[in-house]
Amino acid sequence: MKMVSKNIFLEGQTCLTRGWYLRSSDIQIPLTQADQFRIDTGVEIGEMARSLYPQGTLVNERNNISNYEKTKQLISDDVKAIFEATFIHKDNIARADILERIYGQWHLIEVKSSSASEKVKDELIDDLTYTAIILSLCGIEPKKMSLLLVSKTYLLGMNNRDFFIEVDCTEEVNKRRLNFIGKIDEIAHATGAPDMPEPKFIYPCKDCNYYKEYCLGKNIDDPIFDLPRLGEKKFKLYTEENISLVSQIQMEDGLSTLQKMVWTTVRDKKPFINKEKLKELLEKIIFPAYYLDFESVSTAIPLYNNIGPYEEIVTQYSIHKFSAMNSNAEHFEFLADYSKDDRKALAEKILTDIGKEGSVIVYHAQAEKRFINNLAKAAPDLANELHNIIDRIVDLEVILRETYYHSEFHGSYSIKVVLPVLVPEMSYTNLVIGDGQSANVVFAELARSKYSAPEAAVLCKELLKYCGQDTLAMIKIHNALTVLSN
Ligand code: SF4
Repeated sequence: MKMVSKNIFLEGQTCLTRGWYLRSSDIQIPLTQADQFRIDTGVEIGEMARSLYPQGTLVNERNNISNYEKTKQLISDDVKAIFEATFIHKDNIARADILERIYGQWHLIEVKSSSASEKVKDELIDDLTYTAIILSLCGIEPKKMSLLLVSKTYLLGMNNRDFFIEVDCTEEVNKRRLNFIGKIDEIAHATGAPDMPEPKFIYPCKDCNYYKEYCLGKNIDDPIFDLPRLGEKKFKLYTEENISLVSQIQMEDGLSTLQKMVWTTVRDKKPFINKEKLKELLEKIIFPAYYLDFESVSTAIPLYNNIGPYEEIVTQYSIHKFSAMNSNAEHFEFLADYSKDDRKALAEKILTDIGKEGSVIVYHAQAEKRFINNLAKAAPDLANELHNIIDRIVDLEVILRETYYHSEFHGSYSIKVVLPVLVPEMSYTNLVIGDGQSANVVFAELARSKYSAPEAAVLCKELLKYCGQDTLAMIKIHNALTVLSN
């Protein structure tokens, strides 16, 4: 039986069933490439943090018990700082990223890859509180408890110390401790029981990765989560009336326009369509038409000098151009040289590829406009011409949102969800890189020289293929909408 780790405890606080799945079931939710990248980055940031405490000793023995024994020994040996100090209380285990001894008192520090912001996120304080109480139950009472977060003002090239901001959370942690201690035995008992705790329909089910396949969402066609932008307050009102399905909502009153489309689709058991409006919006497209899609990279540890943590850098684009309706498509693409911030070259090339007139068709204009502004910042001499592209944008997603809904969208207008419904013969499943997050990770790993030259060459082709697939998908969606509008 697994011990109750910090993750199991914190998840168990939200939902005991989820804590049980994590601790006692055989279900393994596979990590995505992006999840793995986040974990690796966290490890790297942890190592950077340790470099700030040169007199520290790492605990890294064979197993949890020997790690705990080693920790006790280091505590009695009077070392200045301990990394990964391990503590076990009954079924619970905690590892302190850094335990620093200052004049005989302990300073507990948890290192996080989140950016420092004015208000520290609740979940980060919860994270620190769990470790603090297990230490306390093991007889170590930290005098001070802090988070080491990523500084927004750091730029690659500065000192490691400048990467971090230390935030003293002692007061906040002390406020939560009592509440946490009261739950230690309950969560340990429920998550380790032979029988799964009865699942309760709660707002966090919405983003729970057990929901659809294993838990309350299994075989449910129209959960209320299909209502776009369903907030927690409204969710509670529905569940108080025992409503968990869209089909149980009697009246459309109180629903937003988008939510009404979902409700009507469920009620009528057929897709919602506003043909006139769809036709009208599609007719606004001016030829030559350019289908455009960008990709970008953003990492906690910046890839290039003078770039800050999580700063977004546009890395590639694909354009399919149609000079006139039913003409043949021309394809243009660009992939940045991953050894440097190549936005200037990308900005120059896109301005030659995208012409000066005609519609620029995108899917989810908010992101594409942000990318164009990002390029304008990196190439200020081209800013005016780049901003002109924004004025030509037509957003296919907006057209869809205003005119069409299919129950298989399940409340989402993401291109990855919409495409297989509108264009069943096309999907992303046969691609090596099949989503934006993976494209981000692959580019970051190329920039960090993770691959051999032949591997890198193959991956560059895959990145181009993925971005090209996005613009092809837009063409197909546009065609499908044209058919629907007739
Ligand atoms: S779907 Fe809901 S009830 Fe089930 S494990 Fe997830 S959060 Fe808990």
